[in-house]
Amino acid sequence: MAKLRRRLAAAKDALAEAQAAMKRAEATYDAATEAEQAQGAAREYRARAREARQAHERAAATVARLQRRVNALTRHRIRDLVAGWARSGLTGGPYPKRCRNGHEWGPGRMLVTWKRCSCPGAQTLHPDQAIWGHFIVACRERGCRSVWYDPPHEPGG
Ligand SMILES: [Zn+2]
Ligand SMILES: [Zn+2]
Repeated sequence: MAKLRRRLAAAKDALAEAQAAMKRAEATYDAATEAEQAQGAAREYRARAREARQAHERAAATVARLQRRVNALTRHRIRDLVAGWARSGLTGGPYPKRCRNGHEWGPGRMLVTWKRCSCPGAQTLHPDQAIWGHFIVACRERGCRSVWYDPPHEPGG
């Protein structure tokens, strides 16, 4: 009988050991599965991130292209505006007949330019914010630094 008990105890020990081994294997399997799922999720996440980055790059390129187009058109419109403004000056137009120092202004005697500005005065020049600024008439008389702004510049306003 004692012999049989010993064999039974040994068999129980072996069973317990096998069960423990099975649990360890199970845990390893679970961990591996989790790792695999995590890897899959990470792969998917990386793919989505790559797609998002590519979409952003495409959008940024479009924005840059449109911005260049807007800038070119704005420069063009400003050139037109300056030319029209200067022409209107020929027929009793928007600028004074003389500079502050008394030099007569007219074709060839003045230089008309445009300068971007966002002071309150400049904002009245045009509804489009891209064209906020002033027409500037500079006297071309040698040594004269008289400059006239239209609309009037309002620094710090
Ligand atoms: Zn002058
Ligand atoms: Zn201004």
